[in-house]
Amino acid sequence: MRAPATHGVLIIYTGGTIGSLHKDANDPLSPLVPAHLDEVLARLPTYDVAQHRILLENSWIPLRTHSWEHPLDSSNVTSDDWKKLARLVATHYEDYEGFVILHGTDTLAYTASALAFMLGNLCKPVVLTGSQLPIGRSRSDAVQNLVTSLEIAAARSLGAAVIPEVGVFFRDRLYRGCRSTKMSASSFNAFDSPNCLPLVQAGERLRVAAHRQPLADDTNAALRVIDRLEINVASIGIFPGMNPQLLRTLLATEDLRGVVLQTFGTGNAPTNPEFLDTIDDAVQAGKLIVNVTQCRSGEVELGLYDASAGLLSRGVISGKDMTVEAALTKLIVVLGTENDIGVAADLMQLNLKGEQRQSIYHLHFPASRWDATAPLALDNVRPMVQGAVPYARDRVDRALLRILGLRGLDDQKTSVDMVIYLETSSLAKAEDGAHQRDRIKVGRVQKDIRPGGEEHASFTLGHEVLQHIDPEQPSRLILVPAGGPCRWSKLDIALYCRDPS
Ligand code: ASP
Repeated sequence: MRAPATHGVLIIYTGGTIGSLHKDANDPLSPLVPAHLDEVLARLPTYDVAQHRILLENSWIPLRTHSWEHPLDSSNVTSDDWKKLARLVATHYEDYEGFVILHGTDTLAYTASALAFMLGNLCKPVVLTGSQLPIGRSRSDAVQNLVTSLEIAAARSLGAAVIPEVGVFFRDRLYRGCRSTKMSASSFNAFDSPNCLPLVQAGERLRVAAHRQPLADDTNAALRVIDRLEINVASIGIFPGMNPQLLRTLLATEDLRGVVLQTFGTGNAPTNPEFLDTIDDAVQAGKLIVNVTQCRSGEVELGLYDASAGLLSRGVISGKDMTVEAALTKLIVVLGTENDIGVAADLMQLNLKGEQRQSIYHLHFPASRWDATAPLALDNVRPMVQGAVPYARDRVDRALLRILGLRGLDDQKTSVDMVIYLETSSLAKAEDGAHQRDRIKVGRVQKDIRPGGEEHASFTLGHEVLQHIDPEQPSRLILVPAGGPCRWSKLDIALYCRDPS
């Protein structure tokens, strides 16, 4: 992956341990504070100060630098710094082969995730790195981290960047930025991407993994900075015995629009009514709640246990295998650009930048009260929201029709029995010139619902049903009654679509 870099690399220095010095030069126990970028550059072997270039292997790579006027400990980095970084990359996008951002390690994974979502159509490397020890210390990991990051940022092959996405380099690995997380406060192996293999393994040579390609936006399109951000969001970790009042207070925060709820295991949470009512009230108030696991790896599977089915039926959405950092920054970007909470919820469940292994596409049908005296036709409420990788039938691993919050009318006891069909207009025209409509049976729901009770029903869609789902065409469900009247709060088809890489 060694190729001459023509325009070199822009180093952007924001601060962090990598360039820190002791506040009192004579006191090695005084706190570390970020110092000037020159402190870092002066320690780089083979850096030619006069010519602003560095010798990497056999090539001289031109280097230019940009430094925050007041370098920061990354605990002080805010979304304004993310905007500054994204705009800097955009301003100099054509001038360099790639970008290296020097950043404190504490919040580096948040910045990397944010930039991944904020830089649309990115086709060049943006590598974030830092170090556990300041570059001036004899055992520091800084030089290795910075030099390898520069090499990755400059690497081109066959005229294109080898790593055309946001990455985090640490120790000997490059991780996908929106999959990365800080794992250790002290080890030189500080980062990992537990649900995604590293993009590059740096040994005696750089080994690039096959899945390095980002899930492309339009690679021919110009770089697009998305910098309308919604910072009225929260990340809340639940814990055993958590007082629901505490959660209620947090969720009632004025202007709060979205929450990353860090749950147990595969997305589980307490099932007591007070807890679930609190969640329900927040969703009804238009807040978007994304469920991610507190576990280091693995993924949320809503509905696998009863302890997550209640969240699902109240409108909490799945964060799949996203890190907390990715889920939070994705929420900030999605809510910043999308006012419609339903569309925002759909976008949150699509794989936009390789941050989750699957996209969940949705077809939504209206909530309804139904006296069940005649068949009911329901059209999907809006076209299927598409992600960076559009829906494709042949990549669907699992498809579910779900009816949530199924109750008797006015909470009466009822025996629900209905057969559900999907109706599609076939391409062939009937003799009278009208489109013929095909009906295909999706399944049957039979539930006895006690007074005041609530049920959920879901069934898997067969392959023959899937064939008739076309994101470009409206979909219609026909409910044919065989039992009592009912109502429901949510009816949708969820299509679990694997990404192509
Ligand atoms: N506190 C430092 C920071 O995040 C830690 C580091 O850079 O490793 O800025």
